[in-house]
This record gives sequence, C-alpha cells and structure tokens, in this order.
Amino acid sequence: MKKYDYLIVGAGLYGAVMAYELGKKGKSCLVIDKRDHIAGNIYCEDVEGIHVHKYGAHIFHTSDKNIWDYINRFAEFNHYINSPVAVYKDELYNLPFNMNTFSKMWGIKTPEEAKKIIERQRKETGITEPKNLEEQALFLGGKDIYEKLIKGYTEKQWGRKCTELPAFIIKRLPFRFVYDNNYFNDRYQGIPIGGYTPIVEKMLEKADVRTGVDFFEFRKQNADIAEKIIFTGMIDEYFDYRLGALEYRSVRFETEVLDCDNYQGNAVVNYTDSEVPYTRVIEHKHFEFGKQEKTVISREYSSEWVVGMEPYYPVNDEKNNALFEQYKKLADSEKNVIFGGRLGNYKYYDMDKVIAAALEQFEKIMQTAE
Ligand code: UDP
Repeated sequence: MKKYDYLIVGAGLYGAVMAYELGKKGKSCLVIDKRDHIAGNIYCEDVEGIHVHKYGAHIFHTSDKNIWDYINRFAEFNHYINSPVAVYKDELYNLPFNMNTFSKMWGIKTPEEAKKIIERQRKETGITEPKNLEEQALFLGGKDIYEKLIKGYTEKQWGRKCTELPAFIIKRLPFRFVYDNNYFNDRYQGIPIGGYTPIVEKMLEKADVRTGVDFFEFRKQNADIAEKIIFTGMIDEYFDYRLGALEYRSVRFETEVLDCDNYQGNAVVNYTDSEVPYTRVIEHKHFEFGKQEKTVISREYSSEWVVGMEPYYPVNDEKNNALFEQYKKLADSEKNVIFGGRLGNYKYYDMDKVIAAALEQFEKIMQTAE
C-alpha cells in the first residue's frame, strides 16, 4: 500500500480541481508545488489592501453554464467586464475591435461606413485565405487596425513576426460592428470577490499540501509515495528534454505601488506600438472597483523563456505542436502518470478550459476505475 492514491504536481487550477474531485470520492491526495504558495498563476497577493494578480491578470469568462456554476461554488463573482484600452503612440482606442474603435480610427459613425472602409482595405491586401496571424488580421480588419493595434503588440508579446504566428491567436479577439467594449463574447464573466487564492484554498481543503517542493528532487526519495501522479508542470522537462525543448514565452512584471488613487482609469491598458517596451499596464484595484488611497500597477514585459524563468505561454506554432505530439506519445505510454494544465498539455488554455479539461480527465479516471 502506498501512502497516497495521488501525487498531484502543481497547486494551480488544474491540480486543485483534480484534488477537489478526487477528495470527494475519498481518494487521498498529496499536492506539491515548487513555489512557496498555492494557486499557480492565479495566485493573488495582498498589497495595500489590493489583490494583485502576481502572475498576470486573470479575468474569468466562460460560455459554459456548468463551468460557471462550478466555479461559483467556491467564490462569489463581481460584475467586472474587461474593456481594455489600447494606446498607440499618442492615440487611444477601445478594445476589442468594435464600433468605438472604428469611429475613433476613421471618424465614422455607422457600421455601414466601417464595413466599407474595412472591405476596401481588405481588397487592397488581396488575401482570400489567411495563412498566418498577419494575413488573418488584415483579412479581419484591414491595414489600419493591423498596423496600429495588432502588429506591434503581437510581435512584442510573442517575439516573432506576425507572418510566423498561427492565425488562431488573433481569433481569440472579438471583432464586432456594435458599440460594445466587452473584450469577451462569453455569456459569463467576473472577478472572484476576495481574489483567486481562496478558491484554490477551498479546492485543496481535503488534500495534504506541501509548497516549496520541487518534484524532480522530491521523487528521488519518494518514488513510491502514491499510486498515481498527476503532473501539471512542463511536459518536456518531465522527460528531461530528451526530444528537444519546447518553446514558451515568459513575462516579467514590474510592479509598483503608487501614491495616487487612480493611475490610468482602467484595469488594462495595452501599448500597441513597438517602441514602448512593455505590452500592457495592469492597475489591479480596478478589477474589484477598489477605493483604496494608493494603487498598484504592473508593467508586463514579454520575453522568450529560458531555464530559470516562469513559463507562461506555450508557443503553439507548427514546429512546437509537432514536437509536443512526440512528447504526448511518450506521455501516453508513461504508466500511472496523467499530464494536465497549460504546461502539461502545452495548450494556450483559459481558466474555464482548464477546469473543463480537469473535470473531463477526472471522469475518465473514474470510468476506468469502475
Ligand atoms: N492582441 C492584439 N492587440 C491587443 C491585444 C491583443 O493584437 O491590443 C492580439 C495579440 O495577437 C495577442 C492576442 O490578441 O497575442 C491575445 O491577446 P490577449 O491579451 O487577449 O491574451 P492574454 O495574454 O490575455 O492571454
């Protein structure tokens, strides 16, 4: 008999949902995380009474009622709607791409006028079947939108030319001909009152949790601690990079407490030209309509990931996806180990998709166990 049914590596959202569901079924779980805190990248730190999204802004949004109901069991959500503003040189635009953006860009008022301009610009590009992000963006919105609001931001965020990036990345963003600045099309949206960390705390209530523990060190002495492993770290690292390293993007946050109550008037301001070195500035208090005297901002600098940095975004281009498929084969033949989450599945998942993937995996486990 081993001490635990499951060793869960990573106390982020995927690992926490797994621990919660397995715990409900009476399975014993040990959750370890190499950081000194739980909650992975949705961890919030209290600074000046403000919940600071320490590893990047997280706005919960989903169209799946089941997932919305699920997460609402762990927290009450506020009515925050993400409406970022984009700064291009000395111009300011609403995002996502909507009538407010088009009106400011071209001085027009009606959808018909906007459509005419975009149609003309699209024709000028001659693109009929977009093959990469640049072509997809030009096809959707024409040259002005692409050059002022997409090109610089995307190339800073990914460190690659838009012609070398997959089109799906830009398909995340709505493009609409109504005056609506809601960044997401999803039916449900909000920020958990009290931040994200208490959600994960609740999910982990039944599990044993040890933070500050590196799996690769831990397993040397504890190879037999659990029947099964759920691994949410980097899949290529798990296999000691034996097929080569997958590429990730990292983000460095420059966080500052400012002695003013409202720095930029919005939670998210994107800097879309290539000259400004950061991609966006987050003012955390606005996620929760904070009234504190001070404010906390984070400038985000994007960079290629190298060992020792935090991996944030998988680079889901053809080359990396093909390499991932090779690792996936290794993973499938790894007995008693399940790989999950953004890093384990090498997928640009949003939070709702992480939960859905974890619940689906949990169902599979239960079916095979029965
Ligand atoms: N994007 C853009 N301009 C913007 C914001 C986003 O071109 O001002 C594009 C860009 O290609 C980026 C993608 O949309 O990679 C997704 O951006 P988002 O900020 O939604 O991603 P997140 O980092 O929040 O997951």
